[in-house]
Amino acid sequence: MNLLPARQIHLDFHTSGFIPNVAENFDAESFVRTFKEASVNSVTVFARCHHGYLYYQSKANPERIHPHLQQKNLMLDQIDALHAAGIRAPVYTAIQWDRYTAENNPDWLVRKPNGEHEGGPFTEPGFYQSLCVNTGYWRFIETHVRELCTLLKGRMDGFFFDIANIRPCLCYKCLPMMREKGLDVNDDIAIRKFTKERVTTFKQRLSALVREYSDDCTIFYNAGHIGPCTKTSANSYSHFELESLPAGHWGYLHFPITARYARTLGKECIGQTGKFHTDWGDFHSIKNQAALEFEIFQMLSYGFAVSIGDQLEPNGVINPVTYKLIKSVYSRVAQYEEWTRPSIAVTEAAVITSESILHEAKIPDSMMGLTQMLEELALQFDILDTDTRDLSKYKLVILLDDLVINTGLQKSLDAYVTAGGAILACYKGGSNPAGEYPTCFGTVSHGENENHPDFIIARGPIAANLEQESEYVMYKPGLKIAASMPETKTILEARAPYFPRKGEYFCSHKYTPSGKGESYPAVLQNGNVILFGHPIFEQYRHNAPKWCKTLIDNTLSILLPNRLVRHSGPSTMKVHLMQQPEKGRIIAHLLSYIPVRKSATIDIIEERTTLRHVRLEFCLGKDIKSAKIVPDGTPLKLEGNAIVVPKVDGYTIVELSV
Ligand SMILES: [Zn+2]
Repeated sequence: MNLLPARQIHLDFHTSGFIPNVAENFDAESFVRTFKEASVNSVTVFARCHHGYLYYQSKANPERIHPHLQQKNLMLDQIDALHAAGIRAPVYTAIQWDRYTAENNPDWLVRKPNGEHEGGPFTEPGFYQSLCVNTGYWRFIETHVRELCTLLKGRMDGFFFDIANIRPCLCYKCLPMMREKGLDVNDDIAIRKFTKERVTTFKQRLSALVREYSDDCTIFYNAGHIGPCTKTSANSYSHFELESLPAGHWGYLHFPITARYARTLGKECIGQTGKFHTDWGDFHSIKNQAALEFEIFQMLSYGFAVSIGDQLEPNGVINPVTYKLIKSVYSRVAQYEEWTRPSIAVTEAAVITSESILHEAKIPDSMMGLTQMLEELALQFDILDTDTRDLSKYKLVILLDDLVINTGLQKSLDAYVTAGGAILACYKGGSNPAGEYPTCFGTVSHGENENHPDFIIARGPIAANLEQESEYVMYKPGLKIAASMPETKTILEARAPYFPRKGEYFCSHKYTPSGKGESYPAVLQNGNVILFGHPIFEQYRHNAPKWCKTLIDNTLSILLPNRLVRHSGPSTMKVHLMQQPEKGRIIAHLLSYIPVRKSATIDIIEERTTLRHVRLEFCLGKDIKSAKIVPDGTPLKLEGNAIVVPKVDGYTIVELSV
């Protein structure tokens, strides 16, 4: 496998036409030296930006060359200088956001059902009007990309095509095509499906065009998210770049969710964050070093290459302070590389996501809650989509609260359980649209419990570490579940309130308390299958009751008694297990950085959180022969298959020889 360079920069250059003397102070020598000194080995440079301007001397579209570009061949000069220093230089160009094209070709705009375009009015700041790739715009893109391929022949490292999203469109091209296909133009889902098909075709055509010029340059289409929606067009990509700036709209949970899914698709992945305090275009800001460490080291813990987004200022000079920060992190990335790439995940569980194949970045609350909770429990899991049929490599499959599936996947789940697999499901997870669970559940649902919130009674092993016989509220309504087979047993019960809070019937501030009446099933177990009637993961996303996590932790102990790793550290510590089979070792990545909601809008990491004497117990299916902290090689004493790490200062890598 030819690995991509590990330490990348994505150098934005969206530059207004009202700014004079663009790139006048560009100096190739200091440009490259700054990257070199910061251990950067790939820089994505700009052919064309979201303002719609070009940064090279185009013959095909001279009218689009930035009107005040002083360094006439900026892009080529950047590429040649980077190449001379052994640094890769793929090229960025915009697809759906291009203000110049949007203003000059209004017929190419994505049209909403009411005829409006996306983004703000042209009298306001922003380039988010969105172009439809199903229009004559294709001809422009084709000419533009052919020109770049010709210009860069022999030195083309790759393309980063930005903003190729599923944007429902009823423009002059899309609407007649939909009608011709007999689609209902008032059906939002039909429109989305059609748009997805057109965007997929666009990517296929564009990748085929690039391949006429280069067999091996990289090709990536950015949509701000990699998820089940990406899979259909994955053949058009050489790799995935996971754009996820935690201080932007993504937040800190987006990256692990998309990473756990993307890594199962069989392509190399690059994580991408930014140097900005907030998000793209935040020129004169700098991310806290600890935050950048966490974001980058977390990517390493998935075995990914890493990329930091920066924006070149209009004068063409990169900011040395930014690269001082990047150097502080990338110099460590270089030292860690031997233990991070290539490496593959060691997992015990698969989560099947309910994320839509028609939307980017519409991550269900249940998935957010699940990821938060399972990372706290150090469970090693992948995220799969509903196309998955072979689950045999996992000991446990977890079905999200809102995962409604077809009979094909239900049959696969039945076969999986027959072969010895275990399932943990919540609420509607695993049911079909009629509300029926797979046979292996041995359970039926009698619909939503209208008498809620109700209260689980802590009793037995599933409630270990809770106050026994105490009642704990389940804020969100559950389903009325019941055994449909004699083998199915109730392992947790709940009680109803006196009455639901409704109309004149209420008690106190919040909800009516337990009526202390008859109990009924809250959790059922049929062999290796455990079903919660309540949406536990959605609940955890909403307000994270610790008793919900305790119940899931205990359920995992029942279904998966030999978990790969358990640790004595706090719930904020992350542990990721990777393996390098050819080197006979498993790598445990320990991360201790705590995002704090210091502001109304974003989470902040300001410092590493140092942990001491963290005990980790492994159950890897083979004995650990030796353990050491790397790269410094400090040996760790083995106690059977357990170790004590004396200090975790933000990020620690432990090598386990097996
Ligand atoms: Zn259209």
